[in-house]
Amino acid sequence: MADILNIQGLSKRYGSVQALDQLSISVPQGSIYGLLGPNGSGKTTTLGIVLDVLNATGGSFQWFGQPLSKSTKRRIGALLETPNFYPYLTGEENLRITADVKRIDHSRIPAVLETVGLAGRKHSKFKGYSLGMKQRLAIAAALLGDPEVLVLDEPTNGLDPEGIAEVRQLILDISAQGKTIILASHLLDEVEKVCTHMAVLRSGKLKVQGPVSSIMATNDLVFINGGAPL
Ligand code: ATP
Repeated sequence: MADILNIQGLSKRYGSVQALDQLSISVPQGSIYGLLGPNGSGKTTTLGIVLDVLNATGGSFQWFGQPLSKSTKRRIGALLETPNFYPYLTGEENLRITADVKRIDHSRIPAVLETVGLAGRKHSKFKGYSLGMKQRLAIAAALLGDPEVLVLDEPTNGLDPEGIAEVRQLILDISAQGKTIILASHLLDEVEKVCTHMAVLRSGKLKVQGPVSSIMATNDLVFINGGAPL
């Protein structure tokens, strides 16, 4: 299968900190690709560079076999940090505002509310949503442009167990709709449950990448998890 994202020899230095060191990864089309590593391993830096929020110090990357451009950006949806929704507006009203800010028409709002399981609660105020519902609305906002690939940075962080289960199931549902998903996580358990492929990062370096099942079968857990909490 073709690669959705190809990263070659990516490096990033913040002063004396080498955040990324010659990182090369390939994300197959249709995969749920986990970027697994403890805090500070370079996951957010990698996502920031490929989403054009940060500049790399070296290396290159292509989305869909092409350099990043306005048209390739339209094919990517991302949730890097929690959006600021209006607490006294409904879920649907918040999505209308997000669509306006992103200059996307409102036609996809019903479909994304359906996808994230909030169609029945679209007239409820955001402030009354559970943690999982709030995060599902944030994912809905990232889906408004009907992207081919969805990039999520630690989407279950800070959620209660119910919210974690909802968001993990939603990731599987979105994948079943044919979208590729890139998921940064520090939780091996999460990557193992949700992802088809993974890259293990440690101190900005790639340790191993490939299908989750073959990595789990051929490497010991200490190597994969590197002492980070399971
Ligand atoms: P986390 O889950 O904590 O966000 P991460 O795996 O996403 O971790 P990064 O945030 O990419 O890792 O950080 C990689 C390294 O770069 C760390 O050593 C971090 O301290 C450093 N770093 C990140 N941003 C900056 C910055 N703006 N200035 C200096 N150092 C930074």
